[in-house]
Amino acid sequence: MSRIFNFSAGPAVLPLEVLQQAQAEMVDYRGSGMSIMEMSHRGKEYSAVHAEAMANVRELLGLTDEYEVLFIQGGASLQFAMLPMNFLPKDGAADYVNSGHWAAAAIKQARLVGQVKVVADCEKEIPARVPEAAELSWTPGAAYAHITSNETISGAQWKSFPVTDAPLVADMSSDILSRPFDAKPFSMIYAGAQKNLGPAGVALVVIRKSFAEKGSKGLPAMLRYVTYVENQSMYNTPPCYSIYMLALTTRWLKQFGLERMHRQNRDKAAKLYAAIDGSSFYRGTAAKHCRSDMNVTFRLPTEELEERFCTEASKAGLKGLKGHRSVGGVRASIYNAFPVEGVDVLIGFMKDFERRCG
Ligand SMILES: *Cc1c(COP(=O)(O)O)cnc(C)c1O
Repeated sequence: MSRIFNFSAGPAVLPLEVLQQAQAEMVDYRGSGMSIMEMSHRGKEYSAVHAEAMANVRELLGLTDEYEVLFIQGGASLQFAMLPMNFLPKDGAADYVNSGHWAAAAIKQARLVGQVKVVADCEKEIPARVPEAAELSWTPGAAYAHITSNETISGAQWKSFPVTDAPLVADMSSDILSRPFDAKPFSMIYAGAQKNLGPAGVALVVIRKSFAEKGSKGLPAMLRYVTYVENQSMYNTPPCYSIYMLALTTRWLKQFGLERMHRQNRDKAAKLYAAIDGSSFYRGTAAKHCRSDMNVTFRLPTEELEERFCTEASKAGLKGLKGHRSVGGVRASIYNAFPVEGVDVLIGFMKDFERRCG
């Protein structure tokens, strides 16, 4: 067996132990004679998996009974639309912080539904950053306020979350469960699973029950949060296998410990940033105070060198380093499951490449 070092931004690396567990249980899930994909979602085996996935998320995020854990298909991108459809009234406005590509994508969808106030805009700034608290001009009476905790493409991450009177909503697709944080200030958190939680096919939504109940009643059932709340995300057939993988991944994370995972994530990123800062050949693209621990972005002196860097790295078993097509450069996505050793190997490769081409 040979596993590469997978720096892909998403779908992304999963813990080897989780994959091996899934492999062992694939054909005959715990003596049922079926795989988890082939059985009724209302049966006892799958019901237990579904409940465990919810309980693990609840425990890891330290959620009180005020919150519900939901599993919804359609990825984070459906949440861009579902959120305003539920909570942005015709005569109201919602606040959005435009911190980059994904925030802008959320804004674009919300504008199809109602009035959006952009309370700060640094989408196109170089170096990439999230705004300072003092720059945020919140709208009194806003229906909700939306932030993107980690901009996966530019590599800018909120290190502490802003405070506002409106219900706070965050897209945490690329850094959920990478660090402990207080969920209490949030009315809703959502995340496509394929970066830090499991495979694609499911989005995790954590929502305050009282907020969900305020959602528009005129929507089709599948677009209303209360439908998922009232039916434990089993109004229709859930994406069983994706939720099963999420259950295994969160079980693995609970065993490792979230605090310990946070320290490991910080150390991995710090090592990589130190290698970038210690060289005049590599140049980080996010502002230092908000550099992401999940997506480390940098450039080389020319695009030709970047191309060559990624090609040679790939040949050396370091895959998925090419920056997003909209910005170019290099991006090392080092989510929870990305091994420490892979960061060391990348740093070694960077030093060698600089020696040869710098
Ligand atoms: C990947 C990503 C998305 C899009 O997720 P999908 O599940 O593909 O819709 C949205 N927001 C952020 C921050 C992301 O990283």
